[in-house]
Amino acid sequence: MANNADRLIIDCHGHYTTAPAELGSYREKQKKELQANPLFEHTKGVVKITDDQIRESLESAQLKLQRERGTHVTLFSPRASWMGHHIGNQSTSKYWTEHCNELIYRITQLYPHNFIGVAQLPQSPGFDTRASAVELERCVTEYGFVGCNLNPDPSGGHWTAPRLDDPYWYPIYEKMAELHVPAMIHVSASCHPCFDTTGSHYLGADTTAFQHLMSAQTLFKDFPDLKFIIPHGGGAVPYHWGRFRGLADMQSLPPLEEQLLNHVFFDTCVYHQEGIDLLVDVIPVENILFASEMIGAVRGIDPRTGNYFDDTKRYVDVCQLNEEAKRKVFSLNARRVFTRLDARLEEVNLL
Ligand SMILES: [Zn+2]
Repeated sequence: MANNADRLIIDCHGHYTTAPAELGSYREKQKKELQANPLFEHTKGVVKITDDQIRESLESAQLKLQRERGTHVTLFSPRASWMGHHIGNQSTSKYWTEHCNELIYRITQLYPHNFIGVAQLPQSPGFDTRASAVELERCVTEYGFVGCNLNPDPSGGHWTAPRLDDPYWYPIYEKMAELHVPAMIHVSASCHPCFDTTGSHYLGADTTAFQHLMSAQTLFKDFPDLKFIIPHGGGAVPYHWGRFRGLADMQSLPPLEEQLLNHVFFDTCVYHQEGIDLLVDVIPVENILFASEMIGAVRGIDPRTGNYFDDTKRYVDVCQLNEEAKRKVFSLNARRVFTRLDARLEEVNLL
C-alpha cells in the first residue's frame, strides 16, 4: 500500500469504551474486595472474554464508524474514564491495567489494520511511578504499543500528585525516552464533586498540564526528546494562546513556539467547526494531530449539522488548511510524534 501511505488517516485518540460486560464485572469484584479492606492485595484473576465477543463489541461501533467516516487506523487505548487510578491501591491498578492493556493487545491482533495499541499505566496516588515504567515497557516491547496515556492527577480531581515536571514522574519519562514513545496527558474519572469527568475535569486537566509543561525549568533539558499530546484540542489553551504567550513573556520564558512546541502537541478532539478553525488558525500545523476520541464522551448527533459531534474529520476536511497541511494533521505529524508508529504500520503493510 506504499502509494496509499500519503492518504492514510490516523486517529491518534480512541478508547475501548465498548468492552464486553465481563470487564466491568472484574472491576466490580475489585471494588467489593476493597470495601472491607482498602489495602486488599488483589490477585490478577481472569477476565473471560472471547474473540467473538471482542469482534462483536467493535464491528457495530468503532469499526463501523471508521468505515463510514473514512479514517483508517486508530491509536487505541483502554477506556480513559475507567482507568480510575484513585480506586484502591497499587495492586488494584496493576492488575486492572494489565487486563485492560491485554484486551487492547488482542484487538490489535484481531484487527491489525484498524488498531494500534496505546497503554494505560497502573498509577496510584501516593505511590512511586516505577510500576508504570514496568507496564509501559511490557506493552511496548511485548505488545507493540506505540505510546501511553499519562494521568497527571491519579487522585481523580483532588490534584494530590506533584506537577508534571517534578522528578516524581521521572521513572515514566526515563522509560518513555528509552523506548521512544510519547504520552497523551489524560485524566480519568473525577471523584471530586465539583468536577464533571468528561467536561470540566478533562478540559481543566488539559489546560493545567499545558501550564505545567510551559513553566517547566529543567524537564526538557533532562529529556530533550520527550513528547506529550494534550488531548481535546488542548483544553482552553489554543483559545487563550495570547494569555499563555503573555505569561511566558512575563516569566521570561522563551517564546512558546520556539522550544515548547518541540515537545507539546494538540489533538483535534474539538466538536464543532469553529473550534477546529480556531485551533488550526492559532497553533502551528506541525503541532496538530488528527483525533476524534470516538466512541467517547460525546456520542450524539449535532442537530445543527445532522452529523455526529465527534466526526472531527468533517471539520478538518473543510478547514482553511491546504492539502499538504491537512496531510500533516491526518498522518504525518502522528508518524513523527509516535516514533514507533512507522515500524508498526510497515509490519501490517499499511506503509
Ligand atoms: Zn480520551
